[in-house]
Amino acid sequence: MKNIVILTGAGISAESGINTFRDSGGLWEGHDVTAVASPEGWRRNPQLVLDFYNMRRKDALKAQPNAGHAALVELSKHFPVHIITQNVDDLHERAGSKNVLHIHGKLFESRSTLNPRLVYPIEGWELKLGDTCTKGSQLRPNIVWFGEAVPLMDDAARLASKADIFIVIGTSLQVYPAAGLIDYAGPDTEIIVIDPNLPAVKKHPQLTLIAEKATTGVPRIVRELIEKYN
Ligand code: NAD
Repeated sequence: MKNIVILTGAGISAESGINTFRDSGGLWEGHDVTAVASPEGWRRNPQLVLDFYNMRRKDALKAQPNAGHAALVELSKHFPVHIITQNVDDLHERAGSKNVLHIHGKLFESRSTLNPRLVYPIEGWELKLGDTCTKGSQLRPNIVWFGEAVPLMDDAARLASKADIFIVIGTSLQVYPAAGLIDYAGPDTEIIVIDPNLPAVKKHPQLTLIAEKATTGVPRIVRELIEKYN
């Protein structure tokens, strides 16, 4: 049985109405990422950062999983599937996917600024100044910001190195270390990249590039894999 590992980025959620980051000209929803998604930004203006993620939560609550997310659930009925996502939204889970590793954190979680192990669910959209952990410290979004370490990177690399088929969907492969996960796929691994604006990918003996949107490209590839290997 082929072991399938998927790496998703903002592009898989684009057709659900959640804007990608790079498609808006390097700004994220009109903001310089350093102001809203970095430790410096948080130190300078925590209210702005909280407002930014509150808006992202409102957007995510309005969004529904699309045919791309759904096709990955179908795939998992036929193969062992692990999803490594750079997305902070919860659309993979809401579609029904089970093995989802959020390497850049989760929009609907907060964590203590004192102890990163103190993590709490966020019900609804709002996290406010004055919301504190059980030790009394301010809560921040449980997101891996630019310039911060990626604690789940080792787990993600381990998964990627065991893939028989590695599928990359909707990511510009510009954000490291996540973008380097493709390099953990061995020479025998089939690599499939699905993105309407294909990112630059190193030569590989078994590379398939599909310049298509997630809602059409992912269901098509899923059908093909099921037909080919079942
Ligand atoms: P990115 O914005 O850098 O790249 C988006 C990619 O998606 C591009 O290559 C683009 O061509 C592709 N794309 C656009 N529309 C698509 C579609 N319909 N189907 C398939 N692909 C499509 O995103 P990234 O590489 O994920 O990196 C951005 C960082 O910003 C990530 O770390 C992520 O945490 C964060 N982010 C997350 C979300 C989210 O959770 N949904 C949204 C924006 C940004």
